Amino acid sequence: MAKTYGNFINGEWTTSATKKTFANYNPARNTEVVSEFQDSNAVDGSAALAAAEAALSAWSKLLPPKRADFLRKAADILARRRDEAADILTREEGKNIGEARGEIDRSVGLLRFYAGQWLGLSGETIPSFMDGRFLYTLRAPLGVVALVSPWNFPSAIPVWKSAPALLCGNTVVLKPSPLAPQSAAIIAEVYAEAGIPAGVFNLVTGAGNEIGEAVVSDQRVRGISFTGSRETGKAIMRKNADRLIRIALEMGGKNPMVIMPDADMTRAVEDTVTGAFWAAGHKCTATSRAIVLEKCYDEFVEKVVARTKGLRVGDGMDPKTEICPVIDDKQCKKIEACIAQAKSDGAKCLVGGERLSGGIYDHGCYISPAVFTDFKLDSKFAQDEIFGPVLGVIKVKDLDEAIAVANKTEYGLASGICTRDIKAGLEFARRSDAGMIHVNSPTAGVELQAPFGGCKDSTSGSREMGTSALDFYSQTKTIYVDA
Ligand code: NAD
Repeated sequence: MAKTYGNFINGEWTTSATKKTFANYNPARNTEVVSEFQDSNAVDGSAALAAAEAALSAWSKLLPPKRADFLRKAADILARRRDEAADILTREEGKNIGEARGEIDRSVGLLRFYAGQWLGLSGETIPSFMDGRFLYTLRAPLGVVALVSPWNFPSAIPVWKSAPALLCGNTVVLKPSPLAPQSAAIIAEVYAEAGIPAGVFNLVTGAGNEIGEAVVSDQRVRGISFTGSRETGKAIMRKNADRLIRIALEMGGKNPMVIMPDADMTRAVEDTVTGAFWAAGHKCTATSRAIVLEKCYDEFVEKVVARTKGLRVGDGMDPKTEICPVIDDKQCKKIEACIAQAKSDGAKCLVGGERLSGGIYDHGCYISPAVFTDFKLDSKFAQDEIFGPVLGVIKVKDLDEAIAVANKTEYGLASGICTRDIKAGLEFARRSDAGMIHVNSPTAGVELQAPFGGCKDSTSGSREMGTSALDFYSQTKTIYVDA
């Protein structure tokens, strides 16, 4: 029988005031309920925020190395639960078991990284105009922070938000996506087992427009970190425009990969295919557009189509699977509509783009990875985030045109270039309107110790992960000491 989780509030697993639950389904076998969760409302959100507010004073006074100790213990506990957590991640979100294990390893790595960062919570000493004055800065927490996460990295994103928030002395209310909430519930269990005091970390589950909205609109919240779609991010920003609290929005992408004629073509094809189709394209950093110089266009298209044809689509629990199912029927219909629109606008589909059927395919939403050419650069297909296994290939004459096309989008999360010419690589890096730029690696691959975030509509200007996250979750106090 599927386990029913409560909300985790003030150190207890509690039933929602609504008395209602919702099911967390397996995208690979859509009648299989992985677990049940509380369908929470504003009453639950208020209880979680009250617990976080009550716990704030003691937690923020605890010395940073002590707070770090809890994160280190949490890392050890999650490492011990790695295989079980990865199985659940695949069952609730769909991605391949190998990728799921990689995500749990990343969560463990993030906990260890932030545990080691308590030494980085330093300020500055500043020379003064005044004789004998001691002028320095220190970091203070923001207070209660609301963390809102999407479904596509259901373990790593809750960790990369909560670990730096907790280290900086904030208390937390996390609202994960209802499409994959169990990985976040495991993080709550891990923090509880690590001994993090009651009320410091709270988890509430349910619909975005109900419990999500209630939490991010509450006056007790002093900081919001949101990852998800641009539409929801903008709505959260609008709602809080009058409140002058700190808000980080990490949103979608329309990520380009430029292929230069001097590139190692086998590697370029592999990096493009990996970036575009792994995890069914459900990555904000997924490659959505391959921008190919005309000299190598035919060769690239032929090889990318051949490689795409050979990809195995299936249940993520099957170790042979390369391309996992789409998260749910709603996302599937969105991708299918996008494909249909592109075809009716005259775009050419060279491979894939079909809803698969028969056998396992009848139990989930499986779309064969698709490669398109001949679409208009201002079409929805070329401009909107599809968030599915779909790649568009564009022919350009030179690097200047490639950069212009790469930047011709409202988004600016990640970008890449495949080339052996270091000058071209650095030129692209300088002129690409993206927050994360790859020279000879897939657009969808980041390291946890480096800043993560985008430009333009992909972000509100903040950065996550690395030491940048500490700047978001703390505020600077300047102290003047005269004897
Ligand atoms: P989404 O915007 O639908 O939902 C994200 C979260 O916000 C969920 O927890 C949802 O319940 C909640 N939510 C929805 N409406 C809300 C409201 N009115 N108030 C408060 N919370 C609300 O996004 P999604 O479909 O879960 O995720 C996919 C999107 O996330 C894609 O656009 C993808 O590019 C983006 N993403 C971005 C990054 C990044 O770091 N840039 C990383 C992963 C995913």
